[in-house]
Amino acid sequence: MGNRNKVAIIFTGGTISMKIDPRIHAAIPALTSEEIMAMVTNIEKFADIEIINFSNLPSPHITPDMMMDLSRLVKKTIEREDITGVVVTHGTDTLEETAYLLDLTISSEKPIIVVGAMRNSSELGYDGSSNLSAAICTAISPNARNKGVLVVMNNEVNAASEVTKTNTLSLDTFKSPEFGPLGIVDNDEVIFYRDILKKEHINTDRIENKVGLIKCAPGMESDILDFYINSGYKGIVIEALGRGNVPPKMVDGIRRAIENNIPVVMVSRCPTGRVLDTYGYEGGGKHLRELGVIFGGDKPGQKARIKLMLALTVTDNMDEIRGFFEQKL
Ligand code: ASP
Repeated sequence: MGNRNKVAIIFTGGTISMKIDPRIHAAIPALTSEEIMAMVTNIEKFADIEIINFSNLPSPHITPDMMMDLSRLVKKTIEREDITGVVVTHGTDTLEETAYLLDLTISSEKPIIVVGAMRNSSELGYDGSSNLSAAICTAISPNARNKGVLVVMNNEVNAASEVTKTNTLSLDTFKSPEFGPLGIVDNDEVIFYRDILKKEHINTDRIENKVGLIKCAPGMESDILDFYINSGYKGIVIEALGRGNVPPKMVDGIRRAIENNIPVVMVSRCPTGRVLDTYGYEGGGKHLRELGVIFGGDKPGQKARIKLMLALTVTDNMDEIRGFFEQKL
């Protein structure tokens, strides 16, 4: 039995550990890790399982500090010689942020898989057990090594750096809209179709909480920017319009933030595509580039925010922060 694979499963909560409370007719965290694992039938044929309880929280209750605690725990666990891979269960609402934070802060060749469920255990067609078994099969696959943190849901394997929750209901909600999945889990086997060329690492075990996120819409002004500037925020992420443009009345606030050494990272509110300095009008990308705005590539705002929260613990130098976002492969 010496060569058996051993997978540590770290439980954090989410719908995968929920059932309907009959008093309030709504889902709440209720299942123990052992109760969840009892539904993952036949898994002992594939691997030995070690259960580690981190929390039993809905994912809107998970804070960046908790994500960092989780990162430390995953790192400690994946370094153990007896562990082949680590699976983390998580609520799907903020799963992409936690997965991305783990991806940025942990360098390991071994597979680290984040998984959740869209239907709770009181619903018909609970997807927690099938998602967990697919995650465990991925965690023991030699092909899943050196791929960074992966998200496995609905038999698809996506990179933590690319995946986002796209649908409030569908089992097929986790997508990489820009480039598609890395692979699939078929018949308990993981098949990869492509690799991740761009692997990023931020060497820190701390996180800066005071990073704001603003989504642009027509007619918006600088009031929210000024709120962040006056409230001691250390960084601001803007989900700009289209190719990377903002309404003209936001420009003053952006200028003030940068004058106060608060990095402003711009991504787009479009679901796919990079931001670029294509437009030269007031508030256009070219204007923002001249003001010193950092271009955040094709990440959604919530992920650019995680990256900025980590980068700010390494440096407060604007050009070094820019390097984290604008470096080419
Ligand atoms: N609201 C739940 C959560 O994120 C959704 C889920 O887990 O699917 O905890």
